[in-house]
Amino acid sequence: MTILDDLLQNNKSIKNIVILSGAGVSAESGIRTFRDSNGLWEDHSIEEVATPEAFQKNPKLVHNFYNQRRKQLLSSEVNFNKAHQIITEIEDSNLYNIVVITQNVDDLHERSGTKNVIHMHGELLKTKCTSCNISSPIDSDLNTLSICSQCNEKGTLRPDIVWFGEMPYQLNEIETYLNSADLFLSIGTSGQVYPAAMFVSTTPSECIKLEINIEKTNISNQFDYSIQDSSSKGMEILKNYLLPQK
Ligand SMILES: [Zn+2]
Repeated sequence: MTILDDLLQNNKSIKNIVILSGAGVSAESGIRTFRDSNGLWEDHSIEEVATPEAFQKNPKLVHNFYNQRRKQLLSSEVNFNKAHQIITEIEDSNLYNIVVITQNVDDLHERSGTKNVIHMHGELLKTKCTSCNISSPIDSDLNTLSICSQCNEKGTLRPDIVWFGEMPYQLNEIETYLNSADLFLSIGTSGQVYPAAMFVSTTPSECIKLEINIEKTNISNQFDYSIQDSSSKGMEILKNYLLPQK
């Protein structure tokens, strides 16, 4: 009997599953982020492209950066992977109430078919107007002259990305989900970005806490069990416990 058998064999008592997905999940689809190489994202530092101050100082550079990321995301090279797919299968089974809280700004969870997704750090395929504050879908480039489709102001659009120093989205809703979690899964997240790193400690004490990450994290000791492997391999292991065997 393994530790996982022990934790999950009575999975009938698991109803609410909260999944926190991080950079490791997107990395398997070829999407890189700051965490991959010394805090650089495609040769740009956080200070250059991911703070409100950076956007104020050099909006052109920041727009170009996110335009490229958006293009890459929409290119035929990028597809959802096995980890996204298994999460969708678990949701589709209707055996559980699932919410995916993602730190990722891509739409790969949605593309694989997962419905209940919270983008706590915003979305590449959305723009937010700094004048009317409305967020709208976008699949083309933005620039400093772009016109808001909602209020018709010019030059007020920014990427709808939660930058460093800004408040993540839907934290109250996230807290409600965490408070009623029976199983908390942290997948592909380094445990270094707050407040996401605190989510595990926000779950009830009886909640089963599992971590899947390629390496041990700073907060691994707060979980009941850590699978040190890729997101897709880890999810394949969990799938055997959560879905009836065919
Ligand atoms: Zn507007």
